[in-house]
Amino acid sequence: HSQTSESAIHRRLAEIHRRHLSNTSGQVATYIPELAKADPNAFGIAMATLDGTVYEVGDSRQPFTIQSISKPFVYGLALEDRGQEHVLKRVGVEPTGEAFNSIVFDERGNRPFNPMVNAGAIATTAMVAGDSHQHRLNRILDLFQRFAGEPLTIDEAVYRSEKSTGHRNRAITYLELNSNMIEEPVEEHLDLYFRQCSILVTARHLAIMAATLANNGVNPVTGERALEPRYMRNLLSVMCSCGMYDFSGEWIYRVGLPAKSGVAGGIVAVLPGQFGIGVFSPPLDVQGNSVRGIGVCEDLSTHFSLHLFDKN
Ligand code: GLN
Repeated sequence: HSQTSESAIHRRLAEIHRRHLSNTSGQVATYIPELAKADPNAFGIAMATLDGTVYEVGDSRQPFTIQSISKPFVYGLALEDRGQEHVLKRVGVEPTGEAFNSIVFDERGNRPFNPMVNAGAIATTAMVAGDSHQHRLNRILDLFQRFAGEPLTIDEAVYRSEKSTGHRNRAITYLELNSNMIEEPVEEHLDLYFRQCSILVTARHLAIMAATLANNGVNPVTGERALEPRYMRNLLSVMCSCGMYDFSGEWIYRVGLPAKSGVAGGIVAVLPGQFGIGVFSPPLDVQGNSVRGIGVCEDLSTHFSLHLFDKN
C-alpha cells in the first residue's frame, strides 16, 4: 500500500464509523449482569492487512469478552489435535437455522449440527488435548495469543457468572454425555468453554486474528504461525455457513465474507488472501448479532467490493 491508499482506507473507515454511530438500535446482552453493564455507545472498527498494517477508528482498543467468536478458533485447535475425520464424526458442519443455544442434534450422526452453535462448540472444546485442566487451558490461551499477537487474559467476573448461571450449556453438555457424543470429564470441558468465552479482546485483536485466518494461519503482525494451513478452509467454511447464528444465510448473501459474531458485540470477518476486519459495538439484534457490526461490514463489503462472489 502507498501512503495515499493507506490514508484513503483510514478515511473510509472513519466515514463508515461516523455513519453508524448514530444508529442506536439493538439491546446489549443481559443474560448476565456483567454484560448488561456494557456501554451501548462503545464502537470500534479495525482492519488488518496482510502486510501487518492495522487501521483503527473509534473504541478499537476497548476490551470486551470474545464469547462465541472463540468457537471457530477452538474448532481449529480441535482439528489440529484430532484430525478432520475424528472431528467430523463428532461435530457436523450443517447450519441449524436455529438460535445459538438451541438444543437440537443431528440424530442420524448422533452429533451436534456444527461447531458454531453452543452444542457443537462444547463438543469441540471437549476435543482439546492436554495432560490436565490447566494444560488444556494454557493451550487454548496460547492459541488465542498466537492469533492476536499478544497475551490475552480472562475476565474473571464474566467467567464466574457464565459458570454459575450457564444451566442451559450445562444441560446441553450432560445430554451430549448421555448420548455418548462427548466423554468425561464434562465439568472440566464446560469450565474450559466458559473460560474461552470470557477471554478479553479488542476490535484491534479481532482484526489481527481475522487477518491471520486471511493469511493462511500466519499472524501478519508477528509472523508467527497460529494454526496449520490445511485446516484453514475447514474453519472458514463453517464461518461461511454457520458463523452468524440464524442470520448466516442472509449474511453470506449480503456481505459475502466468512465471519463470526459474539454476544458481547464483537464481529470478525475475513477476506481470504487480503485482510481481516474486527468490529465492536454491544447493542445486538434479535439474533444476537451486533447491529452496528452488521451495518459496518455491509458498507465495507459494498465500498471495497469484498463479496467473495463478486470477483467475476
Ligand atoms: N457464553 C455465551 C453462551 O455460551 C456465548 C454465546 C454467544 O456469544 N452467542 O451462551
